[in-house]
Amino acid sequence: MHINCPLCGERDLREFTCRGAAVALARPAPDAPDAAWDDYLHIRDNPAGASRELWQHSGGCGAWIVVTRDTRDHTMLGSELASDAAGVRGAP
Ligand SMILES: [Zn+2]
Repeated sequence: MHINCPLCGERDLREFTCRGAAVALARPAPDAPDAAWDDYLHIRDNPAGASRELWQHSGGCGAWIVVTRDTRDHTMLGSELASDAAGVRGAP
């Protein structure tokens, strides 16, 4: 499997590190109920189809990339720099 780094071009998957879904999660208030914190920490969508994920080209240029991938067959549908993507959580 290959990922297209917008800066380096198409590279082997082993050069990248997946950092999870590229969605901004609403952090609960410090005094929110335990169930709200449980949802925030552990519950994630697991869509069958197109999914946006945050990856880092850790074995290359270090860029943070939003990869759109079909979770049913791992087809890469697109990639862009995280700094250019809308609605994406900040890179850690
Ligand atoms: Zn790169």
